[in-house]
Amino acid sequence: MPSADTFYRGFEQGPIRPPSEARSLLIRVTRNCPWNRCRFCPVYKGADFSRRPLAHVLADIEAVAAWMETYAPTAVCREAASGPAADPAAEMAAWNWYRNGMKSVFLQDANPLAVPPAETIAILSLLKARFPGIERITTYARSKTVARISDDDLAAMRAAGLDRVHIGFESGSDEVLAFMDKGVTKAEQIVAGRKIKRAGMELSAYYMPGLGGKRSWRENALETADLMNQVDPDFIRLRTLAIPDHLVLAEDVAQGTFEKAGDLENAQEILLFLENLSGITSTVVSDHILNLFEDVGGTLPGDRDAMTSEIRGFLAMEPREQVLYRIGRRAGLFRGLSDMAEEKRRDRAERLVREFGVTPENVDDATDEMVKRFI
Ligand code: SF4
Repeated sequence: MPSADTFYRGFEQGPIRPPSEARSLLIRVTRNCPWNRCRFCPVYKGADFSRRPLAHVLADIEAVAAWMETYAPTAVCREAASGPAADPAAEMAAWNWYRNGMKSVFLQDANPLAVPPAETIAILSLLKARFPGIERITTYARSKTVARISDDDLAAMRAAGLDRVHIGFESGSDEVLAFMDKGVTKAEQIVAGRKIKRAGMELSAYYMPGLGGKRSWRENALETADLMNQVDPDFIRLRTLAIPDHLVLAEDVAQGTFEKAGDLENAQEILLFLENLSGITSTVVSDHILNLFEDVGGTLPGDRDAMTSEIRGFLAMEPREQVLYRIGRRAGLFRGLSDMAEEKRRDRAERLVREFGVTPENVDDATDEMVKRFI
């Protein structure tokens, strides 16, 4: 009996992409996550991992190319595309990509490099052939998977057009990684990160402040800084832990085996992390709504002082000012401390603090509820 994957079911897109890929064409190579056990991750729970047949991924690319042939013929290699795109999902993706400039492509879901390297190369090659204007192709990947791919295969992927790999390191602490069931060690992450760089690709590495909880936030900062120092990623992206009710980690909180760190500990952790980055030239990016400071960013080592002084400024504030900033931030009014000087935003934040009766004593509960809206 043929499997569900024997027949092409049309263009597919997965549920998430990094914020930096908002303008990219999303090409789904695999579905969901082959690991799917991380206690802090809500994304693919309850969904089985599968590889899409190569022919189906290539058909998705052809469907987008066919739409371009009809509506934006100068954007596609005319020798290649053929036939109309009768697939509304492909048409929508093609239209969005066209109006966003058609510069970048992102491969989905959590671990597209789990397919044989020859398939990855075939996908990259077709993208490059059909859309000569592409400037950047990127993908998510698991460290464990990357560590298993040979240097030659990674170099071939680079040559075929893979420019950047996003890896969720999250933590460099083996204790934290084990508790969270991340399925990888710090040593494996170092191997994977160095392999990506050795192949000439950019590495975008994610760090999750808060993952150590109240007990291990210092270790999370120091071990993750050490991991980054050993790898020197092109980008270090901050994404602070949040714990919605449906997370496996929420059960740990309920049972008392994990104590969530608050914004003050997270600020101290990020400060400690930044202070301990050394000998690297990474660009730190805080491009996520879950982060307490969205404007803390810059390139090491030159921008370190500006980044740390913002956090020190927050930690030096009076408790009621910290409450005001935290509520304003979680309400989307502030991106950084400088926004507090804007009268209208400050007034609105003060009104929220008054209306909801937020105090230094109950602000953790209030902000926890507010960030759940973002997940
Ligand atoms: S490997 Fe990534 S996508 Fe998979 S469960 Fe862990 S964090 Fe989520």
